[in-house]
Amino acid sequence: MYDRQDIIEMLHEYNVKFIRLQFTDILGIPKNIAIPVSQFHRAVAGDIMLDGSSIRGLTGIEDSDMYLKPDLNTFTILPWRPKNGQVAKLICDIYTSNHEPFAGCPRINLKRIIKEAKALGYTMNAGAEAEFFLFLTDEKGKPTTITHDKAGYFDMSPIDLGEDARRAMVLALEQMGFEVEAAHHEVAEGQHEISFRYSNALDMADKIITSRIVIKAIAQSYGLHATFMPKPIRGIDGSGMHTHQSLFQGDENIFWEADAPMELSETALYYIGGLVKHAKAITAVTNPTVNSYKRLVPGYDAPVYIAWSTKNRNAFIRIPAKRGISTRLEMRSPDATCNPYLALSVMLKAGLDGIINKIEPPAPFNRKFELLNTVDAQLSTIDVLPTSLAEAIQFLEDDQLIQQALGTHIAEHFIKLKKEEWNQYRMIVHQWETDQYLGRY
Ligand code: GLN
Ligand code: MG
Ligand code: MG
Ligand code: MG
Repeated sequence: MYDRQDIIEMLHEYNVKFIRLQFTDILGIPKNIAIPVSQFHRAVAGDIMLDGSSIRGLTGIEDSDMYLKPDLNTFTILPWRPKNGQVAKLICDIYTSNHEPFAGCPRINLKRIIKEAKALGYTMNAGAEAEFFLFLTDEKGKPTTITHDKAGYFDMSPIDLGEDARRAMVLALEQMGFEVEAAHHEVAEGQHEISFRYSNALDMADKIITSRIVIKAIAQSYGLHATFMPKPIRGIDGSGMHTHQSLFQGDENIFWEADAPMELSETALYYIGGLVKHAKAITAVTNPTVNSYKRLVPGYDAPVYIAWSTKNRNAFIRIPAKRGISTRLEMRSPDATCNPYLALSVMLKAGLDGIINKIEPPAPFNRKFELLNTVDAQLSTIDVLPTSLAEAIQFLEDDQLIQQALGTHIAEHFIKLKKEEWNQYRMIVHQWETDQYLGRY
């Protein structure tokens, strides 16, 4: 826990010249305002303003003067910036012109749901796996979908730019206080993964957002473009953001019960029940882009069925083998186009609903989905995730609890923005259509 004096000391120690005040819009896009270090006292006082009407989904023009209130515990140096004249960052909450917490601030919203969990005696811990592609840029610096891997393979380059970039990313993240559990090449050419050790939900959401900034910035310094687009290339694996979740009471992981079946507590099962019940509406938030739904198809380790499993990696929820303090569920549907503050808000809220209302989950599904045909008795009772953004938004509109998890302000703006996004897409005549129909009809 840093106080003001700690920060002032670090600003001197690291010779910091600029501070970036970071926050996130409803769509999950990180934003920041850089202030010279001389303005730090104003930032701490919550006196730095932003125009909320210029940021999509934040607010209307009637009350657009907003304030940024930094959370001092989020102070870190940005290690990839110049050493003389260092840059530091602080993550902020957004306050209204009357200096009240703003209902449209995703971070404040997550804190609200965390408080609801606290009131029931629970602390959520979460860990995320970030999958992304590293692509080459063209001569104008624009991203392509050409992977470096392939080029490296063909020209037998002794230096794999991708691996070097990933190493630099991990080092930078660690310098910023991340505990990186693993970093490895993923299934597809050019695809990588960096996974983070669990932390409390707010810290994990902060880390997810920050990691996207770090990964993109470091990739750029290697002449590469890092993308979290869920399905950048048809026919090969997409990128997910598997999210591990558990509830703690004090130091105890209450998802674990040594002598229960599967060593999973009743609380864990009800939490799963809640996630399964609200899965379709949650998907609008965890998979919020048109492209998200091109990933949620069979054949690529991404989930399609709203099933849970202790084995199957195509399930919506998988229970990793570890027990004891590490007992957790892994929700496999989310992708990194989500706003992590909102994604954790809706997942936690759904889990709590499961616990409060003792929602029994279905039986676990431990076979392979691929081997099954449509007359399979168990499979035919299992529902599937939404297949398009339009469908998912409809499910969100029909689910009051998940809307409450977003709060009225965010729910309304989110639904409106996402409908606009869908409508833009819907009106485009795609290449597939001309390929299929132009000649035939
Ligand atoms: N890329 C896969 C997904 O879209 C996951 C692959 C894996 O981590 N096993 O979720
Ligand atoms: Mg992984
Ligand atoms: Mg993976
Ligand atoms: Mg995983």
